[in-house]
Amino acid sequence: MTRTGTGCIDRPSPNHGPRPEGVGVELLILHYTGMPTAESALSRLCEPAAQVSAHYTVDEDGTVYAHVPEDRRAWHAGLSSWRGRADVNSRSIGIEIVNPGHEFGYRPFPAAQMAAVADLCLDIMGRHGIAPADVLGHSDIAPARKEDPGELFDWPGLAARGVGLWPQPIPADASAESAEDVAALLGRYGYDTAESRVLLSFQRHFHPERLTGEPDPETLRRLRALVRMTGR
Ligand SMILES: [Zn+2]
Repeated sequence: MTRTGTGCIDRPSPNHGPRPEGVGVELLILHYTGMPTAESALSRLCEPAAQVSAHYTVDEDGTVYAHVPEDRRAWHAGLSSWRGRADVNSRSIGIEIVNPGHEFGYRPFPAAQMAAVADLCLDIMGRHGIAPADVLGHSDIAPARKEDPGELFDWPGLAARGVGLWPQPIPADASAESAEDVAALLGRYGYDTAESRVLLSFQRHFHPERLTGEPDPETLRRLRALVRMTGR
């Protein structure tokens, strides 16, 4: 277990296993807890019968709970895929962020919580050599099933601190993609385009003002910008 920052509280979960031989940590996956209270989420993440876990949980006041050692495989991503590879749990670290979620009263993430998330992410990224582009939401890797951490999550603020990417402006001509190209671009960036709701998931992360699932010009511009920024 690697200690991270002040206020990190041990709350061990038995729900983990070994990472496969030779598989390192490449992705950092951010979730919301989607439970009515922080305590209900913490209990579930540590309960054997639930068969779920994460490496950390960040409460709304910024308190960080550590559940699973980083060298172990936690059970947070479920059926998921990124850049053509499934079994994200084996090659990721998962952070749960306390929020009731869309089911129990979705609300903004407090500044103290986001600051703690950024600190924790930077610490993990530094130790494992995780690039900003490899910090993703659960909805990015499981678009048909998941909406977390959702459209209220402050991805731009995190990106400003070097956690995750946010699309930079690019010339207008570069955003002239036809509708036929959208799936190809989403696939190039990393999304599993065999899933449903992929463009909606993209918007939930990168264009949250526009949750239409339709390829409007600004959504396309941002997608194009991200593909360019990563050279994918
Ligand atoms: Zn999740």
